[in-house]
Amino acid sequence: MTTITVKTTVRSEMIDITHDVERLIHADNVRNGFCYIFVPHTTAGITINEGADPSVRDDIVTTLNKLIPWEGGYRHREGNSAAHIKTTIVGSSETIAVQDGRLQLGTWQAIFFCEFDGPRTRKVHVRFF
Ligand code: ZN
Repeated sequence: MTTITVKTTVRSEMIDITHDVERLIHADNVRNGFCYIFVPHTTAGITINEGADPSVRDDIVTTLNKLIPWEGGYRHREGNSAAHIKTTIVGSSETIAVQDGRLQLGTWQAIFFCEFDGPRTRKVHVRFF
């Protein structure tokens, strides 16, 4: 397993990590199999969505903020329940096929690390099998 470090700069953002994952495929000389990505945090997750138009990720972050406001009368005393809820919605892992040394993402797809309680330094675990 390899761990990627992601430094986030604001409370909520989606960071494209596709190239970081592709670099690991080349470094490990992976040809065929699967890439498993796991985010070991409770207030940050991972998702796959459009990477071509940056306004898509902005719309996703903005809409999640509207649906799950930071102040919401939550019980959790740490005060970051909104981040926990968003993380559960986007999820903590993705599995992507690798063929001939390439991630089998669709033309418009990219892999996004999703920060919901930044800025922080985060980990993303990647394993090929
Ligand atoms: Zn918390």
